[in-house]
Amino acid sequence: MMKSQMMEALVWLGPRNMVQRSEPVPHLAAGEVLISVGAVGICGSELSGFLGHNSLRVPPLIMGHEGAGQVVQVTEGPFATGEAATAGARVTFNPLVVCGTCDRCLAGRSNLCRRRRLVGAHRPGAFAQYVAVPARQCYLLPEGLSLVAGSLAEPLACSIRAVVHSGVKPQERLLILGAGPIGLLAVAAARLQGVEQIIVSDVMPQRLDMAREWGAHEMINAREQDVVAFVQERYPGGVDAVIDAVGATSVRAQAIRAVVPGGRVVLIGLHDEESMLPANYLIRQEITVTGSFAYTDSDFTKAVDLLVRGVVQPGVDWLEERPLSDGPAAFAELVDGKARAAKIVLRPAVPIDGTTESHNEN
Ligand SMILES: [Zn+2]
Ligand SMILES: [Zn+2]
Repeated sequence: MMKSQMMEALVWLGPRNMVQRSEPVPHLAAGEVLISVGAVGICGSELSGFLGHNSLRVPPLIMGHEGAGQVVQVTEGPFATGEAATAGARVTFNPLVVCGTCDRCLAGRSNLCRRRRLVGAHRPGAFAQYVAVPARQCYLLPEGLSLVAGSLAEPLACSIRAVVHSGVKPQERLLILGAGPIGLLAVAAARLQGVEQIIVSDVMPQRLDMAREWGAHEMINAREQDVVAFVQERYPGGVDAVIDAVGATSVRAQAIRAVVPGGRVVLIGLHDEESMLPANYLIRQEITVTGSFAYTDSDFTKAVDLLVRGVVQPGVDWLEERPLSDGPAAFAELVDGKARAAKIVLRPAVPIDGTTESHNEN
């Protein structure tokens, strides 16, 4: 790419204000590759960002951290998967760029790196024709795996980590609050761990249908039923573990009241910045409350592996593909609860240099 080249990008300018406009193609630093973005998912964290509720995101910003595409320019260094970075390679990328040398990285908690920088928050993201990322963040996608599937690696990695934090064992009961993408992917991750009793709540019936298709065994429509009363009646004493994939104060309260004494609650939803929690109840019930943030390299590797194995697939029943230019409308629909699909993946336009993706994307 020449320095002067421009690309189309979605730029977030402030609360509910996102425009498509021409932006310079990113310059590559040493060790980075330029990716022609073929697919990029809209994340729940970006919806709160869109509304201006997310302290990590400051306008003007090109968001987009769930991306996959084709490498069009390289500098140096191998991909995360070990292969030499080459133009033409189809990759997904881990957008959490970490230092590898701080105490948290060395302790195996690279998701908590003290110098972490998220693509699409601290540096320009993938709601654009091109994104620059370090080669070592990239995972080569095998032939036959679509870029849309590749773009699911990031949210799947988040869900895998949440399920690990829940400590749920195959014979135990897991309650997942919220059947958005993270909740649904957590159903898939828990099923893969052999968990059979998965209860899911949501306010949208179509999302509960999806949860059923994904292997949850009991659904609760939280608009019609009191989630805690339902759980306590069906499973007297509570469920063994809860994952809150919403993050609203009322839902966090449900999580705590639905778990058994000595049980585990994992908070992954980021809806409310602060919530009041019943501390004395947590003490007397010895409930473990854990935050689950992003993923380590090993969670990400696991996610890519599951996608390669076809365990999670981008079906039309839950995922919708749209052109990049639909981005602002898609954000508004998702924020207002009007989107039909749980997940919307944008497909940025054909790259400037005319390279088209030769693979059949389904
Ligand atoms: Zn995400
Ligand atoms: Zn670090």
